[in-house]
Amino acid sequence: MHKVQISDTKETYPVGKIVCLGRNYLDHIRELGNKIPGKPVIFCKPSSSLLSDGGTIIIPEYSNDCHHELELALLVGKTGKHIPEKDAISYLCGYGVALDLTLRDIQSEQKNLGLPWEIAKGFDTSCPISNFTSVDNISDPNNLQLTLKVNGTIRQQGNTNQMMRSIETIIAEFSKIYTLEPGDIILTGTPAGVGRIESGDCLEGYIEKVGTLKVSVA
Ligand code: MG
Repeated sequence: MHKVQISDTKETYPVGKIVCLGRNYLDHIRELGNKIPGKPVIFCKPSSSLLSDGGTIIIPEYSNDCHHELELALLVGKTGKHIPEKDAISYLCGYGVALDLTLRDIQSEQKNLGLPWEIAKGFDTSCPISNFTSVDNISDPNNLQLTLKVNGTIRQQGNTNQMMRSIETIIAEFSKIYTLEPGDIILTGTPAGVGRIESGDCLEGYIEKVGTLKVSVA
């Protein structure tokens, strides 16, 4: 069973579902030429896609174009359904640094065929994730700087204040569809600058006040 830990309290949570929001930063929507969605674009990754800090990404042999997407991760701490926005943060227990690795070539094929994205988004090691910091350490999750370096060069930079849906809105909307349970992880979308990773690359993600994540590519 995959577990994640809150660094400051050492509490561990068996990971449940990993639910993800796509197209939440305007500049990223524009860089891929996608339409601005009216309704949230939602998909899931299985818990077997998790990779701990310091781990090694294995790009599946059926793809030639694996992209990094740096994202703020939310860790759910209590069960909720139809959560109102005003109470949303009280359902979280931590914030973390995640990568939503995406096989862009396979995702494009699936999009063109009108098929689901899971094989492009849910493969083993497609969800590297850091330890979490306690929610109490972050006063405003909607204003955090995100940076991803690949081999020491900055590739992605953004701020969660550029999100089209706030953390509270994401929790409220997701909980209309899914009962959120302790150990569930929510990925909140990626800013611009996504790009290809290759064998031997070293990826370092940083989110202000939250932490760092360092992984390499096999
Ligand atoms: Mg993403």
